[in-house]
Amino acid sequence: MMIARRRLLAALAASGLLAGPALAARPGAPRALNDMDLLRFVELMALTRQGRDGIRRPAWARRWTQGIEVDLAGGDWTGHLDALDRTLRTVTQWTGLPVTRAPLAGRRHGHLTIRLLPHDDVVTQNGAGGAVCTTWTFGNGGDLHTAHMDVSDAFLDCIEHEFMHVLGIDNHWNGAIATPAIPSVLAPRGRPGRTIGFSDWDEMTIRLLYHPGVRPGMGRQAALSVMRRLLATNALPRPTGRAT
Ligand SMILES: [Zn+2]
Repeated sequence: MMIARRRLLAALAASGLLAGPALAARPGAPRALNDMDLLRFVELMALTRQGRDGIRRPAWARRWTQGIEVDLAGGDWTGHLDALDRTLRTVTQWTGLPVTRAPLAGRRHGHLTIRLLPHDDVVTQNGAGGAVCTTWTFGNGGDLHTAHMDVSDAFLDCIEHEFMHVLGIDNHWNGAIATPAIPSVLAPRGRPGRTIGFSDWDEMTIRLLYHPGVRPGMGRQAALSVMRRLLATNALPRPTGRAT
């Protein structure tokens, strides 16, 4: 029983229920990017796994170590390619990995397929009010090698949200500790704080997770320790601030 209790306490700490007031909901203007809240944000978004029992547990780092070739499938992409290519260039810059469009050509690994689906088909599949975009990632020991994204043709603005998932940032910015003061594309659609594209907080999350010092499969505390050092030594470019 003692072991179980220790595990429970550890799980509660990981869930944020025992977290300090740093991320408590608070009205007011968007909070300026600061390292303490940023590390907590990265911990919750990328280094935490929520089980079917609802309890959050430490997770290992999940990320790509190779470039991603993006294959477009499904409906008509005409009119959407410029925006998509801008996103691919942004992700390339922040991850340091080439993320480019290319036909699938039978590759086994190193690719993401994005499938554009008629919205009616998405509703049939997920139900009214269900997910409009969905991402699946596949890897080995935290080393991601393949991904698939389904996008409703009525909601192409979800692509940067889904790209966070493609990159191994699995969670959503919601629940008791969510606060509109930290804007993120990972907040659920319609919630305060949800941005249309990547926020400064999202950018730094990607930059931290994709620093070469953070390896796939690295445990949460080890990854956070590397990230804390990167921030303390100003080893990463900082966002100059963008509209949210
Ligand atoms: Zn999502």
